[in-house]
Amino acid sequence: MNVVVCLKQVPGTTQVKIDPETNTLIREGIENIINPFDTYAIEEGVRLRERFGGKVTVISMGPTQAEAALREAISLGADKGVLLSDAAFAGADTWATSCTLSMALRKLEPYDLVVCGRQTLDGDTGQVGPQLAEMLCLPFIAYVNRIEEIADGKMRVRRMVEDGYEVMESHLPAVITVVKEINTPRLPSLRGIARSKSASIPVWGVKDLNVDPDKVGMAGSFTRVVKIFSPQQDRQGEIFQGDIEKQVDCLIGRLKDNGLI
Ligand SMILES: Cc1cc2nc3c(=O)[nH]c(=O)nc-3n(C[C@H](O)[C@H](O)[C@H](O)COP(=O)(O)OP(=O)(O)OC[C@H]3O[C@@H](n4cnc5c(N)ncnc54)[C@H](O)[C@@H]3O)c2cc1C
Repeated sequence: MNVVVCLKQVPGTTQVKIDPETNTLIREGIENIINPFDTYAIEEGVRLRERFGGKVTVISMGPTQAEAALREAISLGADKGVLLSDAAFAGADTWATSCTLSMALRKLEPYDLVVCGRQTLDGDTGQVGPQLAEMLCLPFIAYVNRIEEIADGKMRVRRMVEDGYEVMESHLPAVITVVKEINTPRLPSLRGIARSKSASIPVWGVKDLNVDPDKVGMAGSFTRVVKIFSPQQDRQGEIFQGDIEKQVDCLIGRLKDNGLI
């Protein structure tokens, strides 16, 4: 069973700062981590290999430092990593990101399953998984929290929906996104850490993927971030003290003062 896991390196903080000129993330001085949802994708890939054999390949599109995330994935049990990095990939929106990843997936064929996280900490759109499936003309199942069975070129999975679960069956190959309820990621093993240090991580660019530079990066993006900002908090809380009747009187008085009742 050959599994490809897509992982993204993201800033390891929610306190991200935005460059007001370029509207891109200021990455200097910020520790980067594997997108937390992608650690569940890696773990699921490794568990599938342990059950069915085959290999787990991790791929990431990003700057050169994303190689560290791929090495970490190898320390967690992945067999090999491929970094998709090229100046032409910079500034990609989700469409161009998915386009680049789908070209890499075509180069990695044959595989049985592509596993993505449900969303990222930074971009947070949850669009890449479904877009990949669409571009690769593969079946897609989102929010998977259990892979129940894989046999005869098919899989049966359980996915989370708002008010419960759905059990779905699909042909393979397919693309899924996973939620954190699917497993508990393991810690890196000593053997894994040693392997990750010596692993060679190929870097694929525009030429390796045989992709038109106008279809990737900023040139291939249909959307632009025009402005990013944190909403101003101009509301203030007030805590009323005393017994409950006094508190209610105070609240009603305050609402009247502000013309709200
Ligand atoms: C309109 C728009 C414009 C943008 N412009 C810029 C820009 O100018 N500069 C910039 O730096 N960023 C930009 N971004 C951010 C960048 O495009 C996204 O981070 C990227 O497309 C992935 O989207 P996401 O983070 O929402 O991933 P999601 O769709 O939330 O990710 C779901 C899953 O897909 C996989 N995945 C996502 N991204 C990758 C990846 N790179 N490699 C491997 N697997 C991945 C992971 O498994 C992940 O868990 C922009 C985003 C948008 C929406």
